[in-house]
Amino acid sequence: MRVHTRRFFALYALMTLLGLTLANQQAAAYNLEPTRTLKDLDTQILLAVEPLTIDQATTDLRWQEFQPRDNNQGISDKHYWVRFSLHNPEPEDRVEILSTETSYLDHMAVYLRRDSESNFQSHSLSDREPFSSRPVFYRTLALPIVLPAGTKTEIYIQAYHTKADSLTMGFKLESPSRFATRQQQEHLSFGLFYGALSIMALMASIFAITLKQRNAAYYALFLLSSIVFWLMLNGLGFQYLWPEAPWWHNEGFHLVYLIFVICALQFSKSFLQLQLLSPHLNVVFIAIQAVAGTGIIIRLIGFYEPILTLSYGLLAALALILPVASFAVWRKGLDYALWSLLAWLIYAAGLILSLISAATPLFNWGMTPLFYVQIAALLETLFLMIGLSKWLIQLESERQQAITQASEDPLTGLGNRRRLQIAFTQLKDRMAIDQRPAYVLMIDLDYFKQVNDNYGHEAGDQVLKDVGRLLLRTCRDSDVVTRYGGEEFAILLRASEIDSVIQIAERIRIEFESTPTQYNSSKIAHTLCCGIAEVMNIESQPSVQDMMRHADAALYQAKAAGRNQTYVYPHEHKLNHTQLTVY
Ligand code: GH3
Ligand code: MG
Ligand code: MG
Repeated sequence: MRVHTRRFFALYALMTLLGLTLANQQAAAYNLEPTRTLKDLDTQILLAVEPLTIDQATTDLRWQEFQPRDNNQGISDKHYWVRFSLHNPEPEDRVEILSTETSYLDHMAVYLRRDSESNFQSHSLSDREPFSSRPVFYRTLALPIVLPAGTKTEIYIQAYHTKADSLTMGFKLESPSRFATRQQQEHLSFGLFYGALSIMALMASIFAITLKQRNAAYYALFLLSSIVFWLMLNGLGFQYLWPEAPWWHNEGFHLVYLIFVICALQFSKSFLQLQLLSPHLNVVFIAIQAVAGTGIIIRLIGFYEPILTLSYGLLAALALILPVASFAVWRKGLDYALWSLLAWLIYAAGLILSLISAATPLFNWGMTPLFYVQIAALLETLFLMIGLSKWLIQLESERQQAITQASEDPLTGLGNRRRLQIAFTQLKDRMAIDQRPAYVLMIDLDYFKQVNDNYGHEAGDQVLKDVGRLLLRTCRDSDVVTRYGGEEFAILLRASEIDSVIQIAERIRIEFESTPTQYNSSKIAHTLCCGIAEVMNIESQPSVQDMMRHADAALYQAKAAGRNQTYVYPHEHKLNHTQLTVY
C-alpha cells in the first residue's frame, strides 16, 4: 500500500507538472495576438514622489523612456506614471483589456484621450474597494479599453500603493479572447495547484486524526496556511472567497504570512526531530517562531512598515534555516530528512529569486519567479508528503518492534504470556471459520529447583534456553510457542486429532530426557512433564484461564504419577479433573 502511495504521488507530481506546462504554453495554435507589455509599446515613465493631477502629469518635465529595468520598482509608496498611445487603424472599434500583474496593487487610475477630444476620460480602480466594484471579474485590477475605429488613443496609467509594497509595472494589454484564454490557462494551473495542496492537506488531516500524530496535524496546518497564503497572494481569495472584505485582502496578507512561517517551522521542528537531534537548531526555530508571533501582535496593533521588513527578513531566514536544519539531521542519520532538504532547497531557490525580483530592480522578471515559486511550493509539499509517509512507515515499524518486544521472552526468544493471550484471541476468530480443533500443550520441568541449587542459576538459564531451542525445533511455524513463566512453557497448536499432539509432546519429552544440557564441564540430566488439553470449540467460549486450568490439571497428574510423563485432560470429562489419561 505504501509503495502505491509513493507511486501515486510521483504520478500526481508528474501530471501536475505536465498540466502546469500545458497551461502556460502560449496559445499559439489559436493564432491569438500576443500579450503586449509596456516594453512592447513606445512607453514613457514618470516617477513622482507627490500625487499629481492628470493635467500636472501631462506637462511634467520628468518623463523618460521606459526601460525594461523599470518593470520592477522594488518596495515603494511613490506614484508611478506611464503613458503610451494605441492606434486603431481598422474600420471597426476594438477593445483591449488592460490588466495589472499583481493582485495587491492598491490603486490604478487610467486616463484616456482620443485624438478628437481635449479632455481625459478617467477610470479609477482600487483593490481597497469591494471586488464587485471591478469592471472585469479578474483576480488583479483590469479595465477594458475601447479603441475607436481609425483613432489614436493616448493612455496614462497612474499606479501606487497606499502603504509601501513591492510595485511592478507589469501591465498587460490583450484582446478579449487572448485575455480569456490566459484566464483559462491560469485556472487550470491554479486548479492543479490548489487541488494537490488540498488533497495533501486532507490526507495529512486523516493521518493526524486516525493515527493521532501531532506531526501530521502540523503538516496539515502548514498546508492550510500555505493555501491561504497563496490565495491571498494571487488574489483568488479576494475574487472568490472574501470579495466583500478588501480590508482583509489588504491588511491580512502579512498576518497570514507570519502564521505560515510559524506553521512551517512547527512542522519542520517535529518532522526533523530537532529537539532530539539538534537542540541548538531547535532553539533557533523557536526563536524565529517567537519573532513571527511578536510580528503578528505588532501588526495587529497597527504597525505596517516594520512588519513588511520583518516579513522579508523571515523569508530569507526560512530559506536559509530550513535546508540547513534538514541537512544537519540528515547527516545525523535521519534518512527521510533528505526529502525535506530537497523540498526546502527548491523552495528557497524560488523564494530568493522572487524576493530579489520583488524587492530590487536587479532583474526585470516582474512576478514571473513567483510562478516558479508556486511550482516549487507544490514540489516541496509533495516531497514533504513523501518524507512524512517515510516517517510514518518508520513509526509503524518501531511500533511493531515494540509490540514484538512486549510479547517476547528475552531469555529464550520465545513468546511470552501476552503472546499466548493474543494468539488465543486470534484463534477464536479462526475457529469460527474452520472447525479444526486446537490444543494447548503445557510443559513443566521436573525438579528444576534442584538444577538451580546444584549447578547455579546460570546453569538453570542454560537449560531453559535449551528447552526453547528444542521446542522451536520440534514445533511447526504455525504453532505458538511461549514461555508461560519460570520453567513452564505453553504451546498453542492446531491439529486434526489429539494423537498428533501427543506425538509432539512425547517427542519433546523423550528428546529432553535423552539430551542432557552441557554446562561448563557438567552434563545436567533432566526430564519434563507434559499436560495436554483440547481448546473448547467456539460455542463454549473458552478463556485462556479455562484452557490453562485444564492443561495444568493434566500436568498435575503427570507430576503426581512420578514425573517425566505426558497426560491428557479428557474433553468429555471436563468436570472431572482427576480422570486423565497417561501416555
Ligand atoms: P516440579 O517438578 O514440581 O515442577 O519441581 P520444580 O523444582 O521444577 O518446581 P518449583 O516450582 O518448586 O521450582 C521452580 C524453580 O524454577 C524455582 C525457580 O528458582 C526456578 N526458576 C524460575 N524461573 C527461572 C529462571 O528464569 N531461571 C532459572 N535459572 N531458574 C528459574
Ligand atoms: Mg513449577
Ligand atoms: Mg518444575
